[in-house]
Amino acid sequence: MSKLPNITTSIFTVMSKMAAEYNAINLSQGFPNFPVDERLTVIVAKLAKENVHQYLPMSGYQPLLSKIVTLVKKSYDRTIQAGTELLVTAGATQAIFTTILALVKTNDEVLILDPSYDCYEAPVLLCNANPVRVALNDDYTPNWEIIEKACTSKTKMIIINNPHNPTGKILKQSDFESLEILLEKYPDILVLSDEVYEYITFQEKHISAHTRRKLLNRCVMISSFGKSFHVTGWKIGYLVAPEYLMKEIKKVHQFLVFSVNSICQVAISDYLDLVSVDEIGKFYQEKRDYFRQLLKDSRFTLMPCEGTYFQVVSYAAISNENDVDFCKRLIVEHGVAAIPISTFYTDGKDLKLIRFCFAKDNATLEEAAKRLCAI
Ligand code: PMP
Ligand code: GLN
Repeated sequence: MSKLPNITTSIFTVMSKMAAEYNAINLSQGFPNFPVDERLTVIVAKLAKENVHQYLPMSGYQPLLSKIVTLVKKSYDRTIQAGTELLVTAGATQAIFTTILALVKTNDEVLILDPSYDCYEAPVLLCNANPVRVALNDDYTPNWEIIEKACTSKTKMIIINNPHNPTGKILKQSDFESLEILLEKYPDILVLSDEVYEYITFQEKHISAHTRRKLLNRCVMISSFGKSFHVTGWKIGYLVAPEYLMKEIKKVHQFLVFSVNSICQVAISDYLDLVSVDEIGKFYQEKRDYFRQLLKDSRFTLMPCEGTYFQVVSYAAISNENDVDFCKRLIVEHGVAAIPISTFYTDGKDLKLIRFCFAKDNATLEEAAKRLCAI
């Protein structure tokens, strides 16, 4: 008997596999295809010969923890305590899973905003708790009235994802104000803030939960070095939580992972001395603008993209097929892979929208756009 009867293979795996089978350009699963910073590869090559291959402390490599403290201070002017409020994790996925497992109990309710990234629901179900889906507005802003209506005495947690995958939407000051008013009415609700694209925003600056004084004592913030430093396969990130929550989170972490892979921790720590996160937004803004420019004369309609490395487009002018069928045909007949947006909705809502990842070298974007413009 399955513990997760309705969970199927992730759409990112399905589409990447199909892209490989048909030798299509893979703009589906979100990962960069360009080489990582050479300074990082030099660090790794050097570290491979050093004595960095054994277990590190459970919460993380001490110099890395100190550098994260500095990074959070510099980015958000927040001082966190490395010893009690910070944990290095095996990517954001593990941070999210561990947080939910540690804090959510049987029959609790966890609010997930639809459409949403796919990794929140399974850990909630494994806690014998109930994911409660609340629809975002049509323009993907949160509808705080509906969110408030969904809050009950059983609501344990609200998950926010900012910048938002797949829509590229970012939360505004007014969203945080509404959230804070809501939380004042429900003092037991916690917030899980998935901010893995925190440094990938464009004209408008990212507002982190780190900067919201009223949230700090009840919010877990999650970051991913995989996204920020173009190394998604390294699966390394971190979470920040107030001490009373972190105590519980570490109880789970020590038996789920114990400590995160040592060479990546030391490498990221050394790399943080050389790199600035300030460049990341500009780098991806150029990619976004270039990709949008390339698609300008296509029959796809480009949706706004305020952050992340995803561009959502409508294909309503091209086909009436559902988005899953359209994505499959796009691979087979046109050699480009994308993600159907319906898979981010619990009810599979088909809006004729698909998502492209533009974290690719320009030659890849150009060839993909050439194929897409020919449709
Ligand atoms: N959250 C969101 C919104 C994501 O898009 C991803 C994609 N990777 C993750 C979490 C997981 O990040 P990681 O690869 O660091 O586990
Ligand atoms: N976050 C990536 C995306 O949205 C997928 C990562 C994964 O495959 N689990 O494309």
